[in-house]
Amino acid sequence: MVELLCPGCGERVPLNGLRVGEKIDCSNCANLTLRVNEKDGIYFLEEIPRVSCPSCDRLMEVPEGLGPGHNLACCGEEFTLTYEFGAYALQRIRRNIQK
Ligand SMILES: [Zn+2]
Ligand SMILES: [Zn+2]
Repeated sequence: MVELLCPGCGERVPLNGLRVGEKIDCSNCANLTLRVNEKDGIYFLEEIPRVSCPSCDRLMEVPEGLGPGHNLACCGEEFTLTYEFGAYALQRIRRNIQK
């Protein structure tokens, strides 16, 4: 059985036939979703970053390819993604920027 190390807890996670791009939850880490990835023929697990909405506290996955400075919408509002202290956060976009 193929097992990969969880980046969150360092424990082995059985893949159970999962392929690259598929998601898996680590049974040791609460609220941690992992994605199977492959680089140079080596499989590894990467954490799917999540961010909570400042309006409704809903936890969403940060879509692949999205990074700081990108916009995410929730509750009919748009937010800017920021990355600070090793975690993503959402900031309300101020429509009227005052200088
Ligand atoms: Zn884990
Ligand atoms: Zn929301």
